[in-house]
Amino acid sequence: MLPVPVKFFQAGYCTHPEAIVMRGGKWKIANFPAIFALIIHPQQGAILYDTGYSQRFFEETRTFPNRLYAMITPVYLQPGENPASQLEKYGIKPTEIKYIIISHFHADHVGGLWEFPNAQFMCFQSAYNAVKNLRGWNAVKAGFLPGLIPDNFPERVIYVEDTKNIQLPPDFSPFITGFDIFADNSLIAVELPGHATGQLGLILTDTHHQKYFLIADACWLSRAYQEFIQPQKIATILFADSQQYTDTLYKLHILHQNNPHLKIMPTHCAESWKQFGLI
Ligand SMILES: [Zn+2]
Repeated sequence: MLPVPVKFFQAGYCTHPEAIVMRGGKWKIANFPAIFALIIHPQQGAILYDTGYSQRFFEETRTFPNRLYAMITPVYLQPGENPASQLEKYGIKPTEIKYIIISHFHADHVGGLWEFPNAQFMCFQSAYNAVKNLRGWNAVKAGFLPGLIPDNFPERVIYVEDTKNIQLPPDFSPFITGFDIFADNSLIAVELPGHATGQLGLILTDTHHQKYFLIADACWLSRAYQEFIQPQKIATILFADSQQYTDTLYKLHILHQNNPHLKIMPTHCAESWKQFGLI
């Protein structure tokens, strides 16, 4: 693969009892960081994978029904922790972000889209179609806050289905196909359905030749794919398709066994991010 520099950031976190997201977990409240990645592509420029939260989340959840979202997942974000401010401190202006690859449309993944006026968006069309017309209670139930999506989103989006469809190398078995989104073997999108329709996982290689598979919310904690542990039934109410969720989680479990050197990174696993020293 074409190596790309990658740097990880955390834009806010939410809290939940661990036992909800993983059967057998502790009932104490745990923090779930909202991680996003900055990728510097040698030709395409600065690219984000998701954005985490931003202050806009709080504005969008002031009144019902959206307020229910903030009540179910209490969100913490300090001033200056929004993605654009963090990137500026790192030396990247918000206007320099060329693309944002969206894993799925939950608020903790698209909270900062408004902060990047020049970015084109990349996602599976199936993911956008599943939420784009949802409003009110139906939107909240799907974890979707329409006000987080820029008005001109339809003009700025590139659907991953329209990019180059490829066979994955055998070391990604049991995943078979993906999309080489820039047709240069740098960033490979793989569909990880279940948690949300058309959820997008991203394969990349960093400049130290370490391969990553960023899997968004295909599971919340690394132990879940390592040991194939499912969430509590109550957490699955929020899933687009719980059977697909189980199938995807099982495939990740097998992938991890086949390819233990691959860094499989769930967005919200505080332990694995700390362990890899990435945040
Ligand atoms: Zn999430």
